Amino acid sequence: MRIILLGPPGAGKGTQAKKIEEEFGIPQLATGDIIRLAIKEGTEWGKRAEPFVREGQLVPDEVVIGIVKERLSRDDVRNGFILDGFPRTLKQAEALEAMLQDLGIAIDVVLYFDIPAEELVRRLSARRVCESCQTPYNLISSPPKNDEICDRCGGKLVQRPDDTPEVIRKRLAVYEEQTKPLVEFYSRKSLLHVVPSSGTIEEIYAQVKAILGKK
Ligand code: AMP
Repeated sequence: MRIILLGPPGAGKGTQAKKIEEEFGIPQLATGDIIRLAIKEGTEWGKRAEPFVREGQLVPDEVVIGIVKERLSRDDVRNGFILDGFPRTLKQAEALEAMLQDLGIAIDVVLYFDIPAEELVRRLSARRVCESCQTPYNLISSPPKNDEICDRCGGKLVQRPDDTPEVIRKRLAVYEEQTKPLVEFYSRKSLLHVVPSSGTIEEIYAQVKAILGKK
């Protein structure tokens, strides 16, 4: 199955992606994680991306499209994948269509995580992420068993530098302007399924599973 997860920052895309990955055995392809790793490792394009991420802006389309193209050429995505955080602009969505066409494959479903903006700010401020394996936590709704330590791998939990109130506001504005039009784009292609996302992780996952079960 080939899935796109669409929705604002903080809607729970990463958390749901990890659950789908575990249950359905298809890999999560999170452009945000790939970009953060490149920044941490100080690669050439990591250095190019860093100021955009720090400011809550989108990394230029050609950089992200290049990352996804390379990732989709690997063997482990042959039986499916979960795109988490990509596409985020119409240009990226169109580039993705061209890539998939070249590969002779198509997206099966787009899950749109729909949630009010007030809740996003609250969630993002309480978000922590494992420095090593990128597992997301929330200090209020899904806290780790031990403070600041990842349940999965024992890595250190940190707050993302772009999860500060000022950058969160910018990211939400960028989402509204550049990414939200994709809801309409995929709706017109009859691929969009809305997942109301104010509930608990398990409540949201139950809806996701019901949709994927029909595919
Ligand atoms: P995320 O972890 O998905 O919230 O992404 C963190 C940051 O990485 C974003 O605020 C952007 O700066 C950058 N980023 C991730 N995915 C994309 C994308 N598809 N297009 C442009 N920038 C991206």
